[in-house]
Amino acid sequence: MRPTGRLHLGNYVGALQNWVKLQDSYECFFFVADWHALTTDFDETSRLADNTLEVVLDYLAAGLDPEKCTIFVQSHVLQHAELHVLFSMITPLSWLERVPSYKEQQQNLPNKDLHMYGFLGYPLLQAADILIYRPRFVPVGEDQSAHVELTREVARRFNGFYGLKGKTIFPEPEALLTPSPKLLGTDKRKMSKSYGNTILLSDDAGTVEEKIKNSVTDRPKLIDRGSPDRCPVGNLHQIFSDRERLAHITEGCTQASITCVECKALAVESVNAHLTPIRERRHALAQNPGKLRQTIQHGAQKAIAAAEETMTAARHAIGLLRLGAVEDLAAKEESISVLRVPASIADAKNDDERWELQTAEWLDRVNKTYPLKKDRPRTFITRRGRKVGLYAAEEKNGAWKFQLEDRPVNVLVLLAQDEDRYLRDYVLPPKVIQDHWKKFARNNGSVEVVLKRAANGVSLALPEDEPSIQQYAGDYSALQ
Ligand code: SF4
Repeated sequence: MRPTGRLHLGNYVGALQNWVKLQDSYECFFFVADWHALTTDFDETSRLADNTLEVVLDYLAAGLDPEKCTIFVQSHVLQHAELHVLFSMITPLSWLERVPSYKEQQQNLPNKDLHMYGFLGYPLLQAADILIYRPRFVPVGEDQSAHVELTREVARRFNGFYGLKGKTIFPEPEALLTPSPKLLGTDKRKMSKSYGNTILLSDDAGTVEEKIKNSVTDRPKLIDRGSPDRCPVGNLHQIFSDRERLAHITEGCTQASITCVECKALAVESVNAHLTPIRERRHALAQNPGKLRQTIQHGAQKAIAAAEETMTAARHAIGLLRLGAVEDLAAKEESISVLRVPASIADAKNDDERWELQTAEWLDRVNKTYPLKKDRPRTFITRRGRKVGLYAAEEKNGAWKFQLEDRPVNVLVLLAQDEDRYLRDYVLPPKVIQDHWKKFARNNGSVEVVLKRAANGVSLALPEDEPSIQQYAGDYSALQ
């Protein structure tokens, strides 16, 4: 909800009351959308902080329980803004321009200049607000299902661009259509703050009484018959009165057997009975600002933890630089794939000499970041004690045959020299060795590993499968 003021009964019966029920069946995230308030009220922010706190109080007073759900303020979780930026890079303008509320709002608020980037982009911010928690459902009224549809489209587009190997980063959420009975305001129009016809969740008993007593009804004259469906007071009975009382006033209204004054007095009673505990909770909470602060802070922490997990996956999927990857990438920069083996290799007298010429510069470069200690011929030890086997082979007919010693190592480095004497290195990590070691061909006490060119780069030639090993080219993380 946007913090444009205290919440009224329309907000309560249209959403909040339902949220209170949902928190028992789902893991829920509820927030106060203070950035969204700026999309229309950017020029008047003097009450923004106060209103934000009022809405938090309304949430808690109405029964949202921070032990059962996560309650926070949008601007306290910066990841929402970060995801919004990323989405804004991939979303066509036309998607936003066709959102119905974009034009409607501009027409409804003719005195406001809404030709702002933030206003056009608010459905995208909303998409970020939703998708950052990778939810299954979004509880919305029917009028908001267009927004959920846009959110699904954005998720699909992001997954299409950046989904790793078909993996979905953002599952498409479904709209959980919630019963949201319409509530008429005291002047018989839709209850809305901008019409000044609201009853607030936090109004005291006297104010509720006064507002209901002054409310327009459906029976201009005492002898007229009316309908509770068309009357603001009748609406209140439908939501807040018990069945018996509702039947009583429905009959009295449609038969003109009770007066509107009587009916209103009963409505005051029903509404106040419902609001009294809410008011009391609100009062108690407002008396304890330390606890309130703690609740808001704790909610933000929980939300940040969940949002950051999503952002880590999203950043990685896009390929933004992670701090932890700097060393690997710097080493990759110096990847031996740009190295050439000296021409003197043609004069090598035996395998050992050929191996020396092929591996010398690679070892030199890698040793700067990942020192390797010599163990046995063609075997090294990393800083952490991992055994690394280092082998080289020349390309023949689009394939490289490596003759390995039949002793398993933890990491296998294969230097594939092409016909122009350029080298490409494949650093196979322990998991890959474990998976494939037994499948390599055995011959006279040595193990033969064959690489061959394939459509997607280079693959291991194995009996049942031919896994691509392109991903290990120049990746030295297994040498750490
Ligand atoms: S009797 Fe009650 S429901 Fe009917 S018009 Fe009067 S106030 Fe409204």
